[in-house]
This record gives sequence, structure tokens and C-alpha cells, in this order.
Amino acid sequence: MKSFNTEVAILGGGIIGIATAYYLKKRSPSCKVTLVEQNQFMAFTSAQSGENYRNWWPHQTMKAFTEHSIKLMEDIAIESNERINMTRRGYVLTTRNDDINGIIKELEYSYGPDNNHLIRHHGHTHINTYQPPHSERWQDAPKGVDVLQDKQLIQEVFPNFSPEIRSIIHIRQAGMLDSLQMATFMLDKFRALGGERILAKVTSIEKQQKFTVYLTDKQQVIADKVVNACGPFVAEIAQMLDIKLPVKNILQQKIAFPDVKKAIPRVQPFSIDLDEQYLDWDKDERQLLAADDEFKWLTDKLPGSIHCRPEGGDKGNWIKLGWAFNEQEAKAIMQPQLDEHYPDIVLRGAAKLNPALKSYYGQLPRNTVHYGGYYTTTEENWPLIGETEVEGFYINGAMSGFGTMAACAAGELCTQWLLQEELPEYADELSLKRYNNPDFIKQLKKYDKGIL
Ligand SMILES: Cc1cc2nc3c(=O)[nH]c(=O)nc-3n(C[C@H](O)[C@H](O)[C@H](O)COP(=O)(O)OP(=O)(O)OC[C@H]3O[C@@H](n4cnc5c(N)ncnc54)[C@H](O)[C@@H]3O)c2cc1C
Repeated sequence: MKSFNTEVAILGGGIIGIATAYYLKKRSPSCKVTLVEQNQFMAFTSAQSGENYRNWWPHQTMKAFTEHSIKLMEDIAIESNERINMTRRGYVLTTRNDDINGIIKELEYSYGPDNNHLIRHHGHTHINTYQPPHSERWQDAPKGVDVLQDKQLIQEVFPNFSPEIRSIIHIRQAGMLDSLQMATFMLDKFRALGGERILAKVTSIEKQQKFTVYLTDKQQVIADKVVNACGPFVAEIAQMLDIKLPVKNILQQKIAFPDVKKAIPRVQPFSIDLDEQYLDWDKDERQLLAADDEFKWLTDKLPGSIHCRPEGGDKGNWIKLGWAFNEQEAKAIMQPQLDEHYPDIVLRGAAKLNPALKSYYGQLPRNTVHYGGYYTTTEENWPLIGETEVEGFYINGAMSGFGTMAACAAGELCTQWLLQEELPEYADELSLKRYNNPDFIKQLKKYDKGIL
């Protein structure tokens, strides 16, 4: 048996494990840290990310947490000489409704009491001070949110959108980044600071005075502390120490393809159609689908939040489409089975906001990439970061559809728990401790989960 001694063993080499390893070595260079991954680093869920980020959340806690993460990403962008290709054209949420009071109330709450200058309305009666997202540089973007309700202005700035769109909520501190570059930057720093990596699968964990983490190939790691950052397998790993985590896995998919027909302007921000919809079938297609028990649901009203965005920057020509409509819990496996009909479904869904996409009906390019991974999530769609009932065993997981944007803050927060530093205000709420307060959990049910 080959045995390694370490102070902290971090299990899982996705973006969350890597960020934890990076912040821990950065904050405490003398700490002996070992990062364990069963396959390649960044090859599982983290490789499937849409790589979008935003500071908008319906609850102040999640907003403060992701906003801090964005600040940490900016630090890395500067330190790495912009290697992570972070852009900031924003998130453009669109709806055919004039009445968006519900969304405005959420914005007013989550942007806090001094939000007057952060939520800017651009209706008929307002002086037009809207700054269109011409620049992709994150340094150029304004803060806050622009609310557009002037039809002419909407059509001028977003000529590609369906003319039915009546309101736009433009979240400005939002955009895209290259998460693989960010992980590589953090891994390089981790290694340079003396961090160790082991490629092997965790098969079991025991705790006596120290932890023994058993690995494949007759290896083991003896550690004072362990961090479980195993993504969709986080509950399985916790179960090795009889810890039950309140998480589930839900498979979500995306497609990407070269926009050979130039349907989407390269300068279009990440755009989301918030409205529920009936998919765009012709009469015969609709009849056929409705008569088939397996496909009947495709003629029903489907939820909103379909995404579309250009991929690869202004000079690229790919686009990405996504729609997280699946709600079925699944057991995580390494190669999840994708739905062969998904590309056609998401294309038709996205064409409601971007009618030019209709030109791809029945003729998506051959090299269309269809991929997917799990949203590992708690009921309230908040992460789990911090200590567990087993002393010395920490969790950093349940990152659902926001793990890329939250990775830096999650890695830093887990480090603060590990080093027993002063914790930020939101620490308990983002840890298992929140379940000790049933009133708080009940109160959370009033808020939208923030799944876009
Ligand atoms: C389709 C899709 C789109 C998304 N889009 C976005 C987005 O636009 N923006 C955003 O912020 N987030 C997005 N996300 C979410 C984000 O990708 C995830 O939250 C994040 O990647 C989770 O990272 P992780 O490190 O927790 O998990 P993972 O990346 O899955 O890493 C866990 C690692 O643990 C390893 N592991 C598991 N079991 C063991 C074991 N027994 N022994 C050793 N190693 C083990 C795995 O091999 C894996 O590498 C998206 C997710 C999906 C699925």
C-alpha cells in the first residue's frame, strides 16, 4: 500500500476542488495540500458549463456570494493578464409582458436599499441614458441593471429579437469567461506553491484520529482534514462517513454549433427568454406528437428560461443554446445518456426569441455538439460549503448551474472554514447549518430559486 501524508486532502478536481486547493495554498502556503481526482482535472461537470456568470439573484445572500466571486475572478483576470477571457456584455432577460413588477420588486430587494442608481428604467417617459453593450470588455460595463420598456429602443439595440418583446432586464455585471483557463491558472499556482495532485478514485474513507482516504491502485492518503468536492458524487462520498446530504442530481443539456447562417449577431449578450411557451410545430407535426404518449408533452406549455449566446468572442462563429427544463432526479453516472431530441427542442424554443434561428429547423450543422451534465442541487438551489457533523470533514458542493461563477468565492469560503478564519456574514447560510433553522428554510421557499 502506497501511503501519502497530508494536512488537507481535497477530493474532486473539478472547478470547485481546484478553487479550494488554490485559495488554501494562497492563504496558507505552508499547509500541505493534496488534490485527488479520479480522471482528468476539469473533465466532468465543469467541462459542460455554459461559462456564464451574473450577479443577479432573487435573494441577497446569493447575490452577495456571487458578486464576491465575480470580484475574485476580476482579480484573477488582472493577475493572469486577461488569460481567462472574461467578457461582460451582461445577461439580457426578455419577456413579452409589460407588467414586470414582480421582477422589479425582486431586483429592488436583492440590490438593496441604496439601489436607486443601480436600477435604471428606460421607458417612454424617461430620458434615455441606456449604455448599449457595444464593448465586451469587463472593465467597460456599468454596474446594476437597465430596464428597457421602450419598444423602439429595444428594437434598435436588439434588432434580432422577436418584435413581441416588450420588456428587457439587462443585468450588467454578467457575462462569460473561459473556465478551463481559470482552472489552469489556479492549478499552475497551486503546483508552484507546492500543492500535490494524485490521480486515483476514492473508494472509501475512515476516520480514527486522522482520516484515511482509500484510493484505487493500492494507495491511501492520511489527512488531518478532508474536503469533499466531488460534484455529482458529493452525496456518495459523504455517505462513506454516514453523512446524509440533502442533494439531488438533475441532468441538463446544451448544444453548440457554428452559426453558418449568421442568425445571431456576434455582439448579442447572453439572452434569456423568460416566458413559458408552446413549441413551434406545424399543424401536422403537432398532431403527430399529440397522438404519441411519449412525445405528447412537447405540445404542452413548456417553462421559460431558454438561453442563446454567441460562443468564441466577436471573431468566432459558434453559438450555444440551452434550456434547463428537466426536473427529474437522476443517479449520477460518468457518461449520462442525452436525449436525442433535445437539439431540436432547444432550437425551436430559442427561435421564439431569435426568429432567425428558424433557418436551422431540420438542418442543424453536422458538427453540432450536444452535451450535458448534472446540476447537483439542494431543494432551495443554494450551495453547501463548510463543516459537517464529522469533525474535520468539509463539503464544498451542490453548485447546481452556478458552480463556475461561484467557484472562486466557494473556494475562498471553504478555505476560511478550514483555516478557522473569520467567516463572512453569509457563511452559515451557505453551509449545512442553515437546516438547523427551519424558519429560515421555510422563508427561503418564498423566493425564486434563481435558476435561469
Ligand atoms: C449543462 C450545464 C451548464 C452549466 N452552465 C453553467 C454556467 O453557465 N455558469 C456556471 O457558473 N455554472 C454552470 N454550470 C454549473 C457548473 O458547471 C457546475 O456547478 C460546476 O462545474 C460543478 O463543479 P464541481 O467541481 O462541483 O463538480 P465536477 O466538475 O463534477 O467535479 C467533481 C470531480 O470529482 C471527481 N470525483 C467524483 N467522485 C470521485 C471519486 N470517488 N474519487 C475521485 N474523484 C472523484 C469527478 O471525476 C469530478 O472531476 C453548468 C452545468 C451544466 C451541467
